[in-house]
Amino acid sequence: MKINRYMKNLEENYLFAEVAKRVEAYKTAFPNADVISLGIGDVTQPLPLKIVDAGKDACNDLGTRIGFHGYGPYEGYPFLRNAVVDYYKRIKVDIDADEVFITDGAKNGIGNILDLFDVDNTVLIPDPVYPAYVDANVMGGRKIVYVDATAENGFLAMPPKRGHADIIYICSPNNPTGAAYTTEQLKAWVDFALDNEAVILYDAAYESFIGSKDAAHSIFQVTGARDCAIELCSFSKMAGFTGVRCGWTVIPMASPLNRLWLKRQAIKFNGTSYVVQKMAERALRGGIEDVQKTVEIYKKNAKTVTAKFDALKIRYTGGVDAPYVWFYCGIDSWEFFDYLLKKARIVCTPGSGFGKNGNGWVRFTAFNTPERTADALARFEPFWKEFIDVREKLFKLL
Ligand code: PLP
Repeated sequence: MKINRYMKNLEENYLFAEVAKRVEAYKTAFPNADVISLGIGDVTQPLPLKIVDAGKDACNDLGTRIGFHGYGPYEGYPFLRNAVVDYYKRIKVDIDADEVFITDGAKNGIGNILDLFDVDNTVLIPDPVYPAYVDANVMGGRKIVYVDATAENGFLAMPPKRGHADIIYICSPNNPTGAAYTTEQLKAWVDFALDNEAVILYDAAYESFIGSKDAAHSIFQVTGARDCAIELCSFSKMAGFTGVRCGWTVIPMASPLNRLWLKRQAIKFNGTSYVVQKMAERALRGGIEDVQKTVEIYKKNAKTVTAKFDALKIRYTGGVDAPYVWFYCGIDSWEFFDYLLKKARIVCTPGSGFGKNGNGWVRFTAFNTPERTADALARFEPFWKEFIDVREKLFKLL
């Protein structure tokens, strides 16, 4: 057998695997250290009981003759597809149930959708961004071009003036920077995609965190998007489903990708489990207020972080539209990661892991509990004051 020749082009370690490895090494060396993670973007709050009950009811269904469900539809059960359609109505976006495909998470969707695209496509990816976009395309052997998201453009890259792209990734609200596009800004991307006959893969995994009035909730709020865009979304951060696994993909009927994706799913995917889809349905119908209460807990954590950063005069973005606060440390991001872990026993995510423009920056998540977030910040304050004093002496400034 011959291994996929492009696998060797991947970085040695996936970002979050490298973070976990370094934390593990630290914990092995200092088994009694109380390490607080503001690193990986996993949720911590338990599922709302209404969602748990929906899962229990669905399990009970499966134990009865009339409620038993075997293989489900590849594209998801109509009850959940329709719930997603109704979820979009609150932002006045009309989609059809045939355009909604239920997946077992947005990451899977992001990687798997690439089955539809030839290797001979140029992929445009903002830098910094969620690393799975880059890695999935490196594995597929596609040419990648980057657009710069920097402090100067508020970490919201706009379409390049020159150059061509076939597949465009947009993540808004953004992981890691927390920045979110307005519909006007997205219009520029839609126009660029239409001019290039490109497809936009729009990742809206953090849509439910949006706090600012102007931020777009969906690419389909933008005129022309139905002719060029696919939207991927997830119950992970919205409803605490990181371990339950459920997401959705919206592909307009007019796009040939709609039928191709159905074909692909029929070949390689036997559907998300009935129990999980029932839980996801409850998250959108009947459980939405409880889901929002949990999101509010994380948003409050983000506020705790940004309030402290304001007091310490730290340069940062995010925290309003996403559960991430992205701040400037001014030195190599991994050096900062190691120093913060060693001195304050806090885990962050180094910005450079999201792309070259992330170097010098660091991501904190708001996903820990309010108590642990407060503890972390109590430690962070003296750490930061000392860090600022010694930064020039101990580190190479960027
Ligand atoms: N998209 C973005 C931007 C993310 O940050 C994440 C997870 O951190 C995902 C997708 C993964 O979502 P899921 O858990 O649905 O696979």
